[in-house]
Amino acid sequence: MNQPVKNGVMVYAEQKNGIIHPVSFELLGKGRELADKLNVELWSVLLGYHVRGEAETLIHYGADRVFLYDDPMLEVFDVVKYKHVLVGLIRETDPQLFLIGATPLGRSLAPRVAAALNTGLTADCIDIQIDDKGEIVQIRPAFTGNIIAHIKTRSRPVMATVRYRVMKPLPRDTSRKGEVVEKHPPTLQDTGLRVLGEVSTRSVNLAEAEIIVSGGRGLKRREDLNMLKELASLLGGVVGVSRPLVDDGWISKDHQVGFSGNTVKPKLYIACGISGSPQHIAGMRDSEVIVAINIDRSAPIFRIADYGIVGDLYEVVPRLIEALKRLKRVE
Ligand SMILES: Cc1cc2nc3c(=O)[nH]c(=O)nc-3n(C[C@H](O)[C@H](O)[C@H](O)COP(=O)(O)OP(=O)(O)OC[C@H]3O[C@@H](n4cnc5c(N)ncnc54)[C@H](O)[C@@H]3O)c2cc1C
Repeated sequence: MNQPVKNGVMVYAEQKNGIIHPVSFELLGKGRELADKLNVELWSVLLGYHVRGEAETLIHYGADRVFLYDDPMLEVFDVVKYKHVLVGLIRETDPQLFLIGATPLGRSLAPRVAAALNTGLTADCIDIQIDDKGEIVQIRPAFTGNIIAHIKTRSRPVMATVRYRVMKPLPRDTSRKGEVVEKHPPTLQDTGLRVLGEVSTRSVNLAEAEIIVSGGRGLKRREDLNMLKELASLLGGVVGVSRPLVDDGWISKDHQVGFSGNTVKPKLYIACGISGSPQHIAGMRDSEVIVAINIDRSAPIFRIADYGIVGDLYEVVPRLIEALKRLKRVE
């Protein structure tokens, strides 16, 4: 390949222990569409140590060119070092759009890079489009999810973090060809950051769950969550909740679905005693099949539900549990 033409679309490839975070493949899928519309190359940048093998994978998912920084200095994520490397690359290659996953790592890295480049950053986008004038439009919920804002940034590059599980990756194509450009990080001083150990507080991975049984304020007591846990476990799923249950300390925030919680895309989402506020719906509207159980037939959740059960969850959920147990006995 020739020297990279400037003004490409660049995707940050997040990795941990050499495993690429799936949000990076989703961003490459979107990036491919945008780069084709803008008639530019799609680039990806990968930082780490012993990650060379993953550079090709990024090409298989849509990148034309991967800037690879494989160096012992980058083995552990150090936000200051990573920022320096990215700022240098962005200054050199001048992408018009730079996308990072809105993961905890991305949310820490992106603002530092944007500030160093003196450019804007639109956080938590749910879509990126190109308008009739060929300008980049960043789309994200605003005013607690009540409106969807369309944002254009004057400064360059346009920088956005994008939520996990809102965009689709392309199918992996191992015949795709691209170029891996080996880069070397600048010599960086010790930043003073040390990883003393890793603590995992995450009890559930809601974003990747295929079946979620969620409870809301229709539940009367914290113990009643056990009923939803039983239903979820019979279906091979996990428990989600609306925000008030987290605010009341009934369950950890890992379980929260919605605007300020997790965005989920399961095959089946069962909402029990959840009214369907815009903030809740923002996190689960893309579920494949939505079942709502609510005593109030005018509850907004029924507007997006594929199957609605108007009834008391304390009657409906135990009957579902019984029916599933019966089915399992027959099997
Ligand atoms: C900045 C901001 C961010 C937010 N982020 C989130 C977020 O990420 N996620 C989120 O969920 N919320 C979020 N919220 C809160 C949101 O606005 C709503 O307050 C919340 O979603 C309501 O939760 P709910 O549906 O469980 O409760 P309610 O709205 O009180 O609904 C309870 C429902 O249960 C039904 N019900 C009652 N008893 C029964 C029964 N026995 N059987 C069946 N149905 C029954 C009622 O008819 C009602 O529809 C946010 C708010 C703000 C301001």
